[in-house]
Amino acid sequence: MSYVILARKYRPRSFAQMVGQEHVVQALTNALTQGRLHHAYLFTGTRGIGKTTVSRILAKSLNCTGPDGQGGITATPCGVCQACTEIDADRYLDYTELDAASNGGKEEIKDLIERAAYKPGIGRFKVFMIDEAHQLSKDAFNALLKTLEEPPEYLKFVLATTDPEKVLPTVLSRCLQFNLRPMAPATVRDYLATVLEAEGVAADAGSLRLLGRAARGSMRDGLSLTDQAIAYGGGRLAEDVVRKMLGSVDRSQPRQLVEALSRRDGPGVLATVDALRERGLPAAAVLEEMALLLQQMAVAQAVPGALDEDDPDTTDARELAGALAADETQLLYSMLVHGREELGLLGDEYAALTMVMLRYLAFPGSGAAAPAPVPRAAPLRSPAPPAIKLAVPTVPAVAASLPAPAAPIAQTAPTPPTAPVPAAVAAPAPVAPAAALGERWHALVKKLAAAGAISALTRELAVQGGLQAVDDAATPPRWLLHVERETLRNTALRDKLASALAAELGHAVQLDVEPGVPEDTPARRDAAERQRRQAAAEAAIHEDAVVRELLAQFKTARIVPGSIKPLDSPEGSTP
Ligand SMILES: [Zn+2]
Repeated sequence: MSYVILARKYRPRSFAQMVGQEHVVQALTNALTQGRLHHAYLFTGTRGIGKTTVSRILAKSLNCTGPDGQGGITATPCGVCQACTEIDADRYLDYTELDAASNGGKEEIKDLIERAAYKPGIGRFKVFMIDEAHQLSKDAFNALLKTLEEPPEYLKFVLATTDPEKVLPTVLSRCLQFNLRPMAPATVRDYLATVLEAEGVAADAGSLRLLGRAARGSMRDGLSLTDQAIAYGGGRLAEDVVRKMLGSVDRSQPRQLVEALSRRDGPGVLATVDALRERGLPAAAVLEEMALLLQQMAVAQAVPGALDEDDPDTTDARELAGALAADETQLLYSMLVHGREELGLLGDEYAALTMVMLRYLAFPGSGAAAPAPVPRAAPLRSPAPPAIKLAVPTVPAVAASLPAPAAPIAQTAPTPPTAPVPAAVAAPAPVAPAAALGERWHALVKKLAAAGAISALTRELAVQGGLQAVDDAATPPRWLLHVERETLRNTALRDKLASALAAELGHAVQLDVEPGVPEDTPARRDAAERQRRQAAAEAAIHEDAVVRELLAQFKTARIVPGSIKPLDSPEGSTP
């Protein structure tokens, strides 16, 4: 006996067998049992999720006569009568499937409408199923419309489409619409497990998880991939073999990349990218695995209890969720997803992948990562170190009197924490108008961010933006912002920022965002402030009497370079 492909063999033949579309099944079952029948149905949803299948089951329900030939309309077609068997075998006289993608013309519809004039040959109802209905030409739609408006009582239409937006509103309004949902990876995984058990094919949990994910919401694709995997794996499914077949990436390296990015460890990022390149893995698969991991991290951050405990990746996601702030997780996710579109633009997709990683590092960190940096200074070697607190009090914020951000930071002398801020670090008088705008913008953005009025990418637009001009005479006042990054220059982000500004200022603002490389941005001012505080903290540690004494006492003691961190969140920077 020849091998029957799984997608065909396991195509659901009854509503009870349909997986993952309970809402549609429930509604249709109720309608059928209560005799509330509509004359036209529209099934929408992505490819391979069961639109044709549900149409066939509906046609059987309408025409089933039961095993004894006495049955009526039912939500549980018998599967053995003429209607049931012939619809399953795709040769029932009164059930017609027409694929508009290949038969989009007016002629086919005309033919269909002519046939609609005749009563059913053997069944109770004629059922016309038009797949990919959005591909019908306008003429064909119009020809169909009359019959849709006043169909004979024995005629039922089923339209299916992956793109309901393209179906004429006049057609939509005449159909009872059901949206079939893409299936969750776990739903596909569990169903594949039962199928493989029935087939007597051994499969490990890892391979099922990979196939469930690779199906991308389509059970049909999941079953087809399983067919391939059985052939590829010589009759059994093992994770490493299926991974190879799918060209998917093992979770460990995407995890390393996310870790390195969260540490802002540039060399670590480059080394991992190189290792992936050497293994010849597609860059798109790397971005995809990273994005999936970030999605789980975001869930862990927002709703910790919602992660699937059976998924071995959950532990990874939980751990990493603490290493990256929630808004940075969103930012990185967004960069990865958009980065996929760039992979093909360059001959070398790994160069493009590297750019995506470096782009994230080019953004200033929010410094709001969940675990607060612990000041680790002076690991003192033997004898056992006395407990000392090498914490540095916050230096009073001097944002208002900072030098222009473009000025080299080295000009700012390390300031002991207790010393008053010397006037020397203040901006030189008279203050230039550009610097005044920069200060105004920085203060405003700081306020908006602290109040939670802007977050994630909107905040990014604000901190990366440089205020170039304010025209208060215009109605409403016009504010011009320059932003270098193209992805931040979109109307949705601009509108969010504009309404946050309006709420803060108490009046509407016309915010224009134009391309440009601003020199004075809140991000740059914050970076300058962080460097200044760092220098002050280092100076304070080196001059601390206790530290000096310890260093003198224990000859092997030293202060680990780079381990000194200012203690708390800076008042002077944008949170
Ligand atoms: Zn039947």
